[in-house]
Amino acid sequence: MIWYPYEQMKTMRAPYKIVDAEGVYLYTADQKLIDSVSSWWSVIHGYKHPELNAAIREQLDKFAHVMLGGLTHEPAEKLSEKLADWLPGDLDCCFFSDSGSVAVEVALKMALQYYMNRGETGRTMTLSLNHAYHGDTFKTMEVGDDEDYHFVLQAYGQSPYAAHIPPEIPALEQAFEQYHDKLNCLIVEPLLQGAGGMRMYDVSFLARARELCDEYGVLLIFDEVATGFGRTGNRFVADLVQPDILVLGKALTGGYIGHAATVASRRVFAGFYDNDPNHALMHGPTFMGNALACSVALKSIELFEREDYMSKIRRIEDIARRELAGFADPRVKEVRIMGGCICLEVYDPATLTGYQQFAYRHGVFSRPFLNYLYAMPPYIISEAELVQVISLMKQWFLQN
Ligand SMILES: *Cc1c(COP(=O)(O)O)cnc(C)c1O
Repeated sequence: MIWYPYEQMKTMRAPYKIVDAEGVYLYTADQKLIDSVSSWWSVIHGYKHPELNAAIREQLDKFAHVMLGGLTHEPAEKLSEKLADWLPGDLDCCFFSDSGSVAVEVALKMALQYYMNRGETGRTMTLSLNHAYHGDTFKTMEVGDDEDYHFVLQAYGQSPYAAHIPPEIPALEQAFEQYHDKLNCLIVEPLLQGAGGMRMYDVSFLARARELCDEYGVLLIFDEVATGFGRTGNRFVADLVQPDILVLGKALTGGYIGHAATVASRRVFAGFYDNDPNHALMHGPTFMGNALACSVALKSIELFEREDYMSKIRRIEDIARRELAGFADPRVKEVRIMGGCICLEVYDPATLTGYQQFAYRHGVFSRPFLNYLYAMPPYIISEAELVQVISLMKQWFLQN
């Protein structure tokens, strides 16, 4: 049997069984659904994209995978070069892994070891945000602040290695004052905190974070697993404020194959580059640099540039603002829109009970969680389809 994610298996409702998918649509045996979630925010080009399919097939006829230990290959070389060119500044040094959580682990390990390699052994702490989500592995749970983290807290008690603050400048300044000589990094989901509830904050926080990190010699990590590739309306938030380490995942492969990258600046890389074998980065996921994943990622980036995806995302944001203008309901606490992310936060999670089934009946797949009813559609969604998704969200409140 399948043990499903984030579910109490005893009470969970049967999942919808998908038999085909194309464009923004998922097909069950009896229904056609707009995927308003992009399969956990990753399928930015939609399903069964002819060019992405062809890129994988072409690579498959050569080889599906070889390890990067002692071997290399063109798709991985080309993707690392493309990312180095495409990402801002000197974010040039690309470490591949198979999932976002692992890529965040790698970033956190890099930050810790960067200082250990310099003999600064006291820098064992991370600073991160309230409501952060950085993955489900143990260290990412510790820097996160969701149910996972609360489970870790319960099991182990407060870690001396992690501190959390709200995304507010006074709290940031105070934390740096208190911990600066113990911190190796500040890690954030920049501008948009996804799994913590589609929470949005101002870029001025990131600008101040950059200043304080420079002042105190702390590394700044952007976890752009969710925000990367346009989701906030910026190509990467790193285009606005530059981090020392950038983590990419989810949409990296257009949602085709799990893959991720931890991209370090030249300065971070230089902290590992010397004659001491103990200064090497000791990490190596079996499937890092998978050739199918790298091939489809390259094609995904090509499409993103060639078909001007940033304008598609601006159009999604404009339509969402237009459709939700003036919408209010006493049960809705806040309407939030940023780039390709639309969220209605409700006061009481019970308000959203039954929404998924309601949406299914009306041809939309939605997966509200806690107090959040949201859409993060594929960027290729048409105006009519997006209006359908948003109308359902409004209709739920109007008719109930
Ligand atoms: C989804 C997510 C992760 C974890 O990625 P996985 O591929 O699920 O391990 C990490 N950070 C952020 C911000 C995410 O949204």
